[in-house]
Amino acid sequence: MTVRTGQEFIDGLDDDREVWYGGQRVRKVAEFEEFKPSVASLARLYDLQHDPSLSDVMTCESADLGDVIARPFEIPRTLSHLRLKRECYIAVAEATCGMMGRSPDFLNAMMASLAAKRSFFHECAPERADAMVNYYKYIAQNDLFMTHALLDPQLDKGKLRNEQSDPGTPLRVVDRNADGIIVDGIKRIATSAPYADEILVWPFPPTFLPGEEAYANVFAVPMNTKGLKTLCRRSFTNHGSRTDFPLSAQFDEMDSTVVFDNVLVPWDRVFLHENTTFLNRMYKDTRMREMTAHQTNSRLEVKLGFVYALLVRMAAAAGTDNRSETMELLGEAALRVEVIRNTTRSAELQATVDPDNGVLYPDLPALQVGRALGPIYYPEMIAMIRKIGGGGLVQLPVSLDEFDSAIGPDLKKSLSGSSIGGLDKTRQMKLAWDLCGSEFGARHELYEMNYAGERGALLASVNREYSRKQDYLDLLDTFMAGL
Ligand SMILES: Cc1cc2nc3c(=O)[nH]c(=O)nc-3n(C[C@H](O)[C@H](O)[C@H](O)COP(=O)(O)OP(=O)(O)OC[C@H]3O[C@@H](n4cnc5c(N)ncnc54)[C@H](O)[C@@H]3O)c2cc1C
Repeated sequence: MTVRTGQEFIDGLDDDREVWYGGQRVRKVAEFEEFKPSVASLARLYDLQHDPSLSDVMTCESADLGDVIARPFEIPRTLSHLRLKRECYIAVAEATCGMMGRSPDFLNAMMASLAAKRSFFHECAPERADAMVNYYKYIAQNDLFMTHALLDPQLDKGKLRNEQSDPGTPLRVVDRNADGIIVDGIKRIATSAPYADEILVWPFPPTFLPGEEAYANVFAVPMNTKGLKTLCRRSFTNHGSRTDFPLSAQFDEMDSTVVFDNVLVPWDRVFLHENTTFLNRMYKDTRMREMTAHQTNSRLEVKLGFVYALLVRMAAAAGTDNRSETMELLGEAALRVEVIRNTTRSAELQATVDPDNGVLYPDLPALQVGRALGPIYYPEMIAMIRKIGGGGLVQLPVSLDEFDSAIGPDLKKSLSGSSIGGLDKTRQMKLAWDLCGSEFGARHELYEMNYAGERGALLASVNREYSRKQDYLDLLDTFMAGL
């Protein structure tokens, strides 16, 4: 068993993987300037697992594996398991201000959900269930960091995968033999792929139609697999002092396209193949959303709380915090934090045991509130930063070092606020700009709007699957019958 340290995570990245940035092959990803800050932030998360004051939260003795593992891998069976998992997710999010959406705990929680639903894969074929459960054990016992790639390239949305002008562009099976399946084609958007250990591939959305069988595969491979290429977007890391770029100097997660060039996936890493029926059922029937949304809503709670706190400080610095319109705005912000905060706690209190596997699942309708409202709340709170900050957001010096230069006294005078000096107010405003004006900030808005999938489809599924619908229909019908 291994609960890894940051250094062990970093050492694991030196494995000759094929990562491309700006048309150049990156030879040592952990040492590459554009990745270094995020790798360091991720390493700190692995070190957090060894913080004695957090060890009961960050790690646990797994009843399923008979081993000490990182808490997010745990398959929850009691209310205490769920509470501790949430506390772990929150500790991870607090270490990054909620700015690393694909921190290791996200996919670790997903792996726990897939392994817990062994029955789903068994119904497809016993070998697929064995592959999934053994893979979960391997990942959890080696404390590996995973990325995932679900989407096909944005081609012609009016056509099926097999109807595209080049049906070979989306990732599909091109051959199979005694060793495994051979896959070829492209997937996106694999966040953190350059510095993950493994990639999990499963296609989304789960709306496969006859003719698309070759594309309906779920599997995982190591990032250094022969034939797997990772193509990076431009880095949004700002290289400079953390005081000048408080978030973008540390937390940019690289989003990547992954290209599979006739990659062999061994059978023990194939969880579904060429099976549209099971693929369409997987998202719902493995109950992965209950486990992953428990993590994503915990992270979002921390991120919104962080933005809320900044709004409070900015309003005080502007001397507007006791004006009625600002008090109203701050109240709106606090409410948004609370709505998201209560999704996880309410989901735990309404959790139910699934008789199929004895696992305690947090309540899905409560969690869906966070997934559906996060894409609205986050941009709204970023707009609040712009509203309070106004033009002050674009009056900032290049660097805080300028306060120590000949123009320091001018800066101090021009940038001071209500009971706050120019230097401290500038520190605040630099953080605000990182959130609302930088490329890093723009990417974060896009992330919060999209990470749970297309919002329209999500809302349709909320109504379609609403478990309390019948209770409310009965109430209505009883009332109407009694008129
Ligand atoms: C920063 C970031 C990080 C991400 N990280 C990951 C990750 O780690 N792993 C991963 O797998 N995914 C990741 N995603 C992908 C995310 O899940 C998707 O962005 C999301 O599901 C939306 O899909 P899309 O980007 O293809 O947008 P699209 O589905 O292309 O949507 C774009 C627009 O087109 C519209 N549209 C789509 N289809 C149709 C149609 N048939 N007819 C009419 N209109 C249509 C939509 O309503 C929307 O307005 C990430 C995304 C972002 C932005």
